[in-house]
Amino acid sequence: MPAGDDRLGRLHASMRRRRLDAYLSVRLSNIRYLTGFTGSDATLLVTSRGDCLITDGRYDVQAREEVRGAEVAITDRKWAEIRQRLRSGRSRRIGYEAAHLTMDSFRSLSGERTERWVCGEDLVGPLRMRKEPGEILAMEAAAATAAASLLCLLSAGVEGMPERDVAADLEREMKRRGAEGPSFPPIVADGARSAMPHASPTANRIGATGPLIVDFGARKGGYCSDETVTILPGRPRGPLRKVYDAVLRAQQAGLSALRPGVPCRRVDARVRESLDRSGYLKYFVHSTGHGVGLDIHERPSLSPRSKDRIEEGMVVTVEPGVYLPGVGGVRLEDTAKVTGAGCERITFLPKTAKPLI
Ligand code: ZN
Ligand code: ZN
Repeated sequence: MPAGDDRLGRLHASMRRRRLDAYLSVRLSNIRYLTGFTGSDATLLVTSRGDCLITDGRYDVQAREEVRGAEVAITDRKWAEIRQRLRSGRSRRIGYEAAHLTMDSFRSLSGERTERWVCGEDLVGPLRMRKEPGEILAMEAAAATAAASLLCLLSAGVEGMPERDVAADLEREMKRRGAEGPSFPPIVADGARSAMPHASPTANRIGATGPLIVDFGARKGGYCSDETVTILPGRPRGPLRKVYDAVLRAQQAGLSALRPGVPCRRVDARVRESLDRSGYLKYFVHSTGHGVGLDIHERPSLSPRSKDRIEEGMVVTVEPGVYLPGVGGVRLEDTAKVTGAGCERITFLPKTAKPLI
């Protein structure tokens, strides 16, 4: 994904609004977004006098090949280099990513002059919320690869297989189809285990009656996809069929609330109101959705506490779930891009209760 001056330019504008003369980025996905660098160890120092990616000799060739819009400095004394640059630039007000900078690194950096480190806010996260067309294309490609991989597994049959074998096969299939890997370790949870929203796949074997929850995604060009299906084999009746219909209605309520200008917490509220009408609200134990991009979870969050508003170009998930302890759960998740008038799904699998294959 080409990165470059405009993204860095928007960060500089954001720094000027906060009267910062330097900003230190340590979050690797922010660094990739701003410069294109894909290595796993670097720090980016952005100042009014120039921008510099600081890394060590392992990344010398890669950094010079990938980095756009910033100077590259190679050193094995990273913190000393940054302190020196901050001193010579006479930086008085420095911003940093408090959620990502370790206390150890902060001590190495600040010395006794902690009063200069004034703003711990992640200033790049908000810049990443609205996606460029190229970013959306990468996520659509990732979603297509992930969906094709799951369909391939399901058509070969998964009944009787341990959950963890299905998860491993899914990862392998996504890679075989050109993904860099999964966007997160897939969740494969069958039967009563589907009542755990973040279940890790185990030796539990996939049964004949479900529900089988698969929450999965692929990574392509650095960008993530995220989708969840719940499979109820056969002709399901009983409580889980009712739960399925309630979750589907809640998901549709969330997707139809998704349009520019709407507060994110209102999208979450629409989902909760729908589940409340069905009587399942107390079994919905997480928030409605999240932004997706270089990271699987990004701003904005679609939750009761979110202060963000939906904007055109955002890519977010809508993923209500109802989890009945000891019985099972249903979660339906799509990722959608926000358009001028509403939203369009970029994940592909149908969410009706009909079998996927
Ligand atoms: Zn998911
Ligand atoms: Zn998600």
